[in-house]
Amino acid sequence: MKLQDNVRFVRGIGPKKAELLGRLGIVTLEDAVQCYPRGYEDRTHITPIRHLLDGEKQCVHAVVGTPPQTAHIRRGMDVTRCTVYDESGALTLRFFNHKYAAAALETGKEYAFYGKVQAEGRGFVMLSPEFEPVGADDRTGRVLPVYPLTAGLYQRDLYRVTDAALAAVPDDLPDFLPKAIREQQGFAPIRDALAGIHRPQDMRQAQQARRRMVFEEFFLLSCGMGFLRARRSGKSGAQLRDLSLNAFYRALPFSLTGAQMRAIEACTLDIAAGRPLSRLIQGDVGSGKTMVAAALCYLAAKNGRQAVMMAPTELLAQQHMQTLAPLLQKLGVSCGLLVGSMGAKQKRETVQAIEAGEVSVVIGTHAVLGDTVQFHDLAVAIVDEQHRFGVNQRATLTAKGENVHLLVMSATPIPRTLALLLYGDLDVSVIDELPPGRQKIKTYAVGETMRQRIDRFIDKQCAEGGQVYVVCPLVGDGESGRTSAESAAERLSGVLPHRRVALVHGRTRAAEKEQIMADFAAGNIDILVSTTVIEVGVNVPNATLMVVEDGDCFGLSQLHQLRGRVGRGKRQSYCVFYGADRGADARERLKTLVHTNDGFVIAQKDLEMRGAGDFFGTRQHGLPPMKLADLAGDTRVLEQARRAADALLADDPELVREPELRARVEKLFAQYGEGSFN
Ligand code: ADP
Ligand code: MG
Repeated sequence: MKLQDNVRFVRGIGPKKAELLGRLGIVTLEDAVQCYPRGYEDRTHITPIRHLLDGEKQCVHAVVGTPPQTAHIRRGMDVTRCTVYDESGALTLRFFNHKYAAAALETGKEYAFYGKVQAEGRGFVMLSPEFEPVGADDRTGRVLPVYPLTAGLYQRDLYRVTDAALAAVPDDLPDFLPKAIREQQGFAPIRDALAGIHRPQDMRQAQQARRRMVFEEFFLLSCGMGFLRARRSGKSGAQLRDLSLNAFYRALPFSLTGAQMRAIEACTLDIAAGRPLSRLIQGDVGSGKTMVAAALCYLAAKNGRQAVMMAPTELLAQQHMQTLAPLLQKLGVSCGLLVGSMGAKQKRETVQAIEAGEVSVVIGTHAVLGDTVQFHDLAVAIVDEQHRFGVNQRATLTAKGENVHLLVMSATPIPRTLALLLYGDLDVSVIDELPPGRQKIKTYAVGETMRQRIDRFIDKQCAEGGQVYVVCPLVGDGESGRTSAESAAERLSGVLPHRRVALVHGRTRAAEKEQIMADFAAGNIDILVSTTVIEVGVNVPNATLMVVEDGDCFGLSQLHQLRGRVGRGKRQSYCVFYGADRGADARERLKTLVHTNDGFVIAQKDLEMRGAGDFFGTRQHGLPPMKLADLAGDTRVLEQARRAADALLADDPELVREPELRARVEKLFAQYGEGSFN
C-alpha cells in the first residue's frame, strides 16, 4: 500500500472502522504515520504480586482464581471483580462497566494483566486492567504504544493501521527538518524515528524518537510564530493622539484596581510610542479584564476610529454588550452587536453601519471575521478568551484595518516564562488583583461516600434560589467508571425530579447550546449538567454551586477555571470536586484547590505535579493541536526548538532554502484556523 491510500483498505479495518478512525483525523496511511502514541506501556517487566507498588501501572502474570462477579452499583455503573493469583500472592481485579471482561476470563487460566495498582485494605487491586492469555501473543513483555482512541476503536485497530502505514513509508521520505539542525540535535533519519516512535524496542528508543517528534512540533510552531512576529514588527501602530481616559474613569460605577490601571497604562504607553500594540492581558477569572478592553474601545472611538471585540460564544458577546454598551453610550460612543444568530436583515444593517463608520465599537463572535464585515477605520482589535481562537483568527481580525492595535485576553494563567515562549509575538500584562469585596468560594474535595449529602446540598442551593453547575469529564458511554454528562443528568433528574435539569455538551448543536446557556443565565434552569463547554467566561451571578464529577480527570488550572463560574454574585458560593477517593495523588491535587484560590499558584502547582499532563492542553491556547509535545514537561525541547527556529529565520526569513519546511509551516497554520470549541 501507499501512504496516500485510505485506511479502509487495510486488512481488518473496513469502512466502519475507517469512519471511526476519521474522527481521530486518520483518513490515509500518512495520517496514521502521524498519529503518534500518547504514551507507552513498559511491559518488559513482570512484577510478582507480592512486590506490587501502590499507585503504579504494572504487569503481572496470574491465574484466575474465582469466576468474575458483576454487581450493579448504581445507575450506569457496573463493577466486575475477580481474584487472581501467582506464586507470591493474590490480587483483586476490578473492572468498571466492562462486563465483557467477566465473559472473557476463564477460571484456572493464566493471563498477563496490565493496569494501575492500588493498595486497598491489606492487599492490592488492579483497576480495569488490560489482559491477554499468557503466550497467546507477543504483546506482553514488550514496550507497547498506546494510541488515542475513540468509542468503538481498540488498540489493536490502531496497531493494524500503523503497521500498514509504517510498511508504506518509502525509503526516500522527505524530511522537512533542515539537515544542519538534524545533525546538531543528533536526530536519527526520519524513517528510523518513525519506527522508533511507533514500535520501540525499549523505552530509551521510544524516548529518543519522541524527543525528535516533539522538537519538530515546537520547531514548526516557532517558525510560524517567527513569521507572525516578523510581519508585525517594523510596522508602526495606528495613531491615536488623544490618550486621556479621565472621562472614562469618571463614567465607571467603581474605581479600577491597581492591576487594571497598570494594564491600561501599559497599553497606552505602547500606543503613544507609535508601536502596534500587541499585548496579552492575563488575569484570573473575575479580575476585570473587560474594563481594560473597554478603555481601549473608548480610546479608539474618542479618536474617531473603530474598535472590535471578539468573544468565543454568543452568550459572552451578549454579556459584553450588556456591560459595555451602556457605559460607552454614556460617553457618546455607539456600540453594535454582531453574532451569527442575528436575522439576515439585521445583520446586513449592522454590517452596513460598521462599514459606514456609524458604529464605533463592534462586539461579536467570530461572525466579525466574515469577509462581508468591513470596517470604516479599524484601529483596535480585542480578542477575549484568546485560548478559544486560533492564532490566525487573530491575524484575520487585525487584517481588517491598517496597523491595528491588538489586545488579547486570557484567564488561563501561564507561568511568565512559558507565556513568553508561547505567545512569542505578544507582550504580557498580568492582572494579579481581584476587585474588592469578593467572597471566597468554599471548596470541598470529596469522595463517593458524600454523594447523598451533596445531592441534598444541590437541592438546598436551588431551594434558596441559587443555581448549580454540574461538570462531567465526558459525553457518551462512561469509560472505566467515569461519569458521562448524560448519565449525570439522568441521575440528577431522578434524584431531584422537582428541579429543572438541562444538559449541554460538545455534541449539542450550537444554536441549542446557546439557547440552554441563555435559559440558564435567565434563571429558567436550576441545574446545568455539562462537559467543560461552560468553562469559558460565562457570567451567571446567580450560580452558587459548582460540582465537578471525577475531578481527578481534570487539570488543576481547568478546575480553577470551572470554579470561577461561581462566586460572581453577592451570595456565598461553593465548589465541590468529586474524586478525592481516587488515591493519594488525586486527593493531594484536589486539596491544592481547597487551600488556594490563586490561579498562578495553581498553575505552577499543576506544572510541577503533572508529568504528561494536559495543563497546556493546546486547545486552551489557540495553538495548533500538539500531537505529542507536552508544553509543561517539554520546556527544554521547546527552548532548543525555538532557538533553532530563530537562528534559521534570521538567516533565511522567508525559508526560501527550505521549501519543505515552509510548506509544513503554512499547512500547520492553515489547518487549525477554525476556532475550537469542544
Ligand atoms: P474577567 O477578567 O473574568 O473577564 P470581568 O471583566 O467579567 O472579569 O469582571 C468580573 C466582574 O467584576 C464584572 O461583573 C465587573 O463588572 C466587575 N468588576 C470589574 N472591575 C471591577 C472593579 N475595579 N471593581 C469592582 N468590580 C469590578
Ligand atoms: Mg472575561
